[in-house]
Amino acid sequence: MTVARVIVDVPSRDTDRPFDYAIPERLKDWVEVGSRVAVPFGPRKLQGIVTALAEDADADVDLAKLKPLEDVLDALPPLSAELVELGEWMSRRWLCPLTVALQAMLPAALKGRSEKYVSPAAGVQWTDGEIADSGGLLLALGKGKPLKLDALLRQYPEQGPTLKRWIRQGRLEEKQQVEDKSAGKSVLTVFPGPPEKLLQAAENMPARASKQRELLRFLAVRGAEPVAVARLTEEAAVALSTVRALEEKGLVEIRPVTEDRDPYADRDFPASSPMTLTPKQAAALAPIQAAIDAREAGAFLLHGVTGSGKTEVYLQAIQRCLEQGREAIVLVPEISLTPQMVERFKSRFGSKVAVLHSRLSNGERYDEWRKIREGRAQVAVGARSAIFAPFASIGLIVIDEEHETSYKQEESPKYHARDVSIERARQHGAAVVLGSATPSLETYEAAKHARGGRRSGLGDIGYIAMPERVANRPLPGVSIVDMREELKMGNRAMFSRPLADAIRDRLEKQEQMVLLLNRRGYATFVMCRSCGYTAACPHCEISLTYHRGSANLRCHYCGYSEAEPKTCPSCESPHIRFFGTGTQKVEEALAAAFPGIRVIRMDVDTTTEKGSHERWLTEFRERRADVLLGTQMVAKGLDFPYVTLVGVLAADAALRLPDFRAAERTFQLLTQVAGRAGRHELPGEVIIQAYEPDHEAITSVQGHDYDGFVERALLLRNQLGYPPYGRLICVTFSHESVPMLLSVGERFASAARETASGMGVGRSFDGAGGDALEVLGPVSSPIARLKDRYRFQCMVKYRGEVDASQVVSRALAGMADAVKKGGVQVSVDVDPQMML
Ligand code: ADP
Ligand code: ZN
Ligand code: ZN
Repeated sequence: MTVARVIVDVPSRDTDRPFDYAIPERLKDWVEVGSRVAVPFGPRKLQGIVTALAEDADADVDLAKLKPLEDVLDALPPLSAELVELGEWMSRRWLCPLTVALQAMLPAALKGRSEKYVSPAAGVQWTDGEIADSGGLLLALGKGKPLKLDALLRQYPEQGPTLKRWIRQGRLEEKQQVEDKSAGKSVLTVFPGPPEKLLQAAENMPARASKQRELLRFLAVRGAEPVAVARLTEEAAVALSTVRALEEKGLVEIRPVTEDRDPYADRDFPASSPMTLTPKQAAALAPIQAAIDAREAGAFLLHGVTGSGKTEVYLQAIQRCLEQGREAIVLVPEISLTPQMVERFKSRFGSKVAVLHSRLSNGERYDEWRKIREGRAQVAVGARSAIFAPFASIGLIVIDEEHETSYKQEESPKYHARDVSIERARQHGAAVVLGSATPSLETYEAAKHARGGRRSGLGDIGYIAMPERVANRPLPGVSIVDMREELKMGNRAMFSRPLADAIRDRLEKQEQMVLLLNRRGYATFVMCRSCGYTAACPHCEISLTYHRGSANLRCHYCGYSEAEPKTCPSCESPHIRFFGTGTQKVEEALAAAFPGIRVIRMDVDTTTEKGSHERWLTEFRERRADVLLGTQMVAKGLDFPYVTLVGVLAADAALRLPDFRAAERTFQLLTQVAGRAGRHELPGEVIIQAYEPDHEAITSVQGHDYDGFVERALLLRNQLGYPPYGRLICVTFSHESVPMLLSVGERFASAARETASGMGVGRSFDGAGGDALEVLGPVSSPIARLKDRYRFQCMVKYRGEVDASQVVSRALAGMADAVKKGGVQVSVDVDPQMML
């Protein structure tokens, strides 16, 4: 191979194609597809990823004129050929530059240009043959100090394959200094020689060195395992000087070893063994195991009510996958990635589990990532981006709570982990299990109607139902309180009488409660009661949110803040009021209404600090509080035996948001939070307060009627041509000038319409079926201005076999120059999840 095709890391459409570089002789054995390289690019030096190797340059290019690669940045390529291919698929699927997709797969620690070091792994033995064949490489490494990778590359260019093999086998380690507050603890470690040698040395030791002799005997009995100096001095009850004396005599070796920062290392996880499955669980597991055995790609929706025992099904499916020598990825929403959740996997699979979530430091994340890549972990549990875990042979991908919006990334690449999982499974011949009590309408439709031969974005999905809780525990009783009636009866408090009674009752019985404040779209905004003025961000046209702690108003989009006004800035009336209800206000109201009540408040303000989320949950579990009060955060996956009451304040707050998924989201959230009650011996009760108690999204929760809710919702979606029947691509333009945006938006809309009709696609969404594409807009975006730029959007709505991504990218390509010259920013969201 003489030519490397490189995608340089500049996230723009101009550079979004491979550039060819010559591979210099000294790097021949080091460059692979997926290697991270340094390349000259005009006057600059850039980083890039090798996406292909070729024997020769393109026909019209003179090989001698190609610039050479400057460097390979890692000994092992951080991406595999499979992940590079996945990146290419993502960039087509979500219309993003390829480098953006590839970079999303790398741990942050690998994005910079920090120096790489190679050193032997602790306690590894080398044969004389290996030492001789390594051409001096092992001797150099044997000195104990980690060596710089680029020095090794220069000195031992022909040892590339050998060095890489040893790293893959875990005999050599490739590391980099990651700047971290909790940075890699380096532990001084003793490497004893062979026991026979130690015993012999003990015999020959002069009598006055009795301490050293004892230590030698101790080490000989202990075996050849390396041991931390601190631990050895304690176990053998000797001074450090004694150990050092043996080192001077060449009997033991002492050198620093960097420990992996396993964030769960100091926790004990009691071992668990597989449970005897209930008949429903066994029936659910069978087709999944069959798919794993068949090694053919296949996807399943595991539709199980809260408490139906889905996790045990996941665990046993993973076990089957591991028995086959294959690997498994488990995705859970970031917010449910609690120690409690992790424990269920760690206690079953021990150190085979690597955990990836955003609260890890860069160094911790890098360590977990290396565990996966080097085959020291076979199960990756993590949030969205864990879908890119660098496994070589995946047998199973589980996505728990598959309906969660956090699986869609809102910045570029705007990928959905569910779609990526299906593509990765296709490449690996793996099974995908999508688990939820309230599946997204997209997944549900794909599963229910798979046999009808209708195409969906997900392809065919098998449907598995677990409609009952384990051990016949009943689903909690749900009652709905009409808050308008409460007001009519003269109750102006935050808590209705039934909820207040229930809270008092639980306090007496010393049981626990979860209170959810559905705050999405229910901002704590400031409004003047005299003139109607509301405080908005001067840069974003978003209502400012009132923060009591700091007594200021803040924009949650750009961070702008201003002091709390005492009088209306517009009419100077003193009747300026803070509307809406924040968790702080509820906390105060609880304290006032129920003296002595112990409340833990969990929201973005109280959980930003690392580890705080977990601390609150532990405190609640230990029953040091009566109430867990919070936003969406308290709804997910928590499992507390003493919770017998769940209360929802303002259940319908988000129902009227301008988003076609508003009802679906509300229903999912309420069902989720209701599932927190009565999961164990004590029965549970749910009280929902609402101003629109007759809305289907709320009444369906009462009957635990997912199927009914969804069938009606799907009917409506079908009529309106919304997903899953039609699909959407949202193209947003932003600029300081509105006329500029209008003209660019119009141009895009007509170009897209023309392109589509050129492809023979009709515009009409009437009637059933048939290909259709229409372009809505340009209209002002729901967030009309952000950081001083106005925003307009066009919505491309289509159905059938239309290649709408092609339509959009061709239309954009046709106007690329104008957009660039004018300084217009374009952002494309394929299958948008957030309509706000
Ligand atoms: P889900 O994930 O569907 O909400 P879980 O997996 O949390 O449900 O299971 C609910 C409870 O039932 C847990 O306490 C779990 O330990 C228990 N459980 C699950 N499967 C079994 C089983 N086969 N036998 C006994 N208990 C089980
Ligand atoms: Zn006013
Ligand atoms: Zn702002």
